[in-house]
Amino acid sequence: MELTGDHIVALLDAHFTGLQATCPSCQTAAVQFDRRNTTDGYRLHVSCVRCGSVLLHPEHDPRVDQFREWTTDEEAAIVAAHLSGQTPLCPADQTPLFIDVAPAYQVTAIRVSCPRCGFWFDRDIPHG
Ligand SMILES: [Zn+2]
Ligand SMILES: [Zn+2]
Repeated sequence: MELTGDHIVALLDAHFTGLQATCPSCQTAAVQFDRRNTTDGYRLHVSCVRCGSVLLHPEHDPRVDQFREWTTDEEAAIVAAHLSGQTPLCPADQTPLFIDVAPAYQVTAIRVSCPRCGFWFDRDIPHG
């Protein structure tokens, strides 16, 4: 599978927002995504029955220039969105964020992480 930077952006955008994507090489078959999260990000196998497969990881992401730390205000907005039942998006790359919730005695500990750019933070939410 031969990919340009535009192809990679389209594939990664589709994958991280949960959409189907058509193979950019043959423009016929739907590609299959298979992602493994790793300590340094992810390994994403993109495969097409006609064109074979490629392995993408974060260094391939043409949006890497947009990746940045989140501001304190953005983190507060993410937590507020989660607490009101919405799925918060990464402020840098618009990917739906993973939220791990660990209820404890006096607080609920949440960890927010972005599967695409890899930024994360922990926050303790006091009960009541
Ligand atoms: Zn193909
Ligand atoms: Zn992100």
